[in-house]
Amino acid sequence: MSDRPRILVLGSVNMDVVIRTPRSPRGGETVVAEDLMLYPGGKGANQAVAAARLGAEVTFVGRVGSDDWGLRLGEQLRENDVSTEHLRTSEACATGNATIIVEPSGENRILLVEGANAEVTSADVDAALESLDTAGRMPDRILAQLEIPPETVFRAIARAEELGIPFVLDAGPPQSVPLERLRGLEILSPNESETEALTGIRVETDDDARRAAEALEEATEADAIVLKLGERGAWIRSNGADRLVPAYRVAAIDTTAAGDSFTAALTIEQARGTELLEAVEIANAAGALATIRHGAQPSLPTAAELEAFLDETR
Ligand code: ADP
Repeated sequence: MSDRPRILVLGSVNMDVVIRTPRSPRGGETVVAEDLMLYPGGKGANQAVAAARLGAEVTFVGRVGSDDWGLRLGEQLRENDVSTEHLRTSEACATGNATIIVEPSGENRILLVEGANAEVTSADVDAALESLDTAGRMPDRILAQLEIPPETVFRAIARAEELGIPFVLDAGPPQSVPLERLRGLEILSPNESETEALTGIRVETDDDARRAAEALEEATEADAIVLKLGERGAWIRSNGADRLVPAYRVAAIDTTAAGDSFTAALTIEQARGTELLEAVEIANAAGALATIRHGAQPSLPTAAELEAFLDETR
């Protein structure tokens, strides 16, 4: 049991461009926008930063394009103590980007460029694992999402199983994947919309959560299913037993990255050998803390903040 577990995060890295505008342009029209802001993002990078802030030794496996954003995002990860020795640069390819057009009503229009994220391969994962093995730094856990090619994730799950490295999958963004390709997971943790995309079950009641978790457990044979249910908390199903673990009551102002914070904390606690129920309680706290500040990466709590919050509430 290590206090500073080694986590390999496999996933996406994006530059998010947020443009506020009085209205969106029609075809052929030019509209003068109010302002533009750049935010480092991508579910993979967010979870890598979340895990590093929470005290893990994090190696990121992913790709950026051969452009300035790629350089900046690599730097941003390093500034957050995430190792980028296995962050590759795809030549002649853009860095992943989400351009988010926000109207005064709050309505969003998003254009996603997968860019280099679409080029993350299982060879990248194998090379990273081989080099970490040679360096005597094999990860205690692998944490991934579905914002890179699903085939790369499926193969990484299979490789991790061969190597005996437990694998935690955050199922975002919402999409339907063949669940039998997810066999071998320690934990599958989708949020409500991801659960619906994977199972077709809309989770509104405890009974819905139970049915969805049961379907996921049966199809994936994961050791545990942990559904993230926003302000309700999280639903655990493990060894055929279910329970709701209620969320902490906080004054939430922006739930962006709550799931990233939650899943990173859950992965770290699993690596520390914490019992599942307690690990999910801690993850609920990490999720709640990410809702009381604005933004994605800036809202992610540190280990000290999480500890102080848990001390206050226990
Ligand atoms: P995602 O960010 O992936 O959509 P959720 O919204 O379900 O995921 O949030 C992840 C976790 O963060 C929840 O399971 C819960 O523990 C915590 N959380 C989210 N929203 C709130 C909230 N309003 N109050 C307290 N905790 C929250």
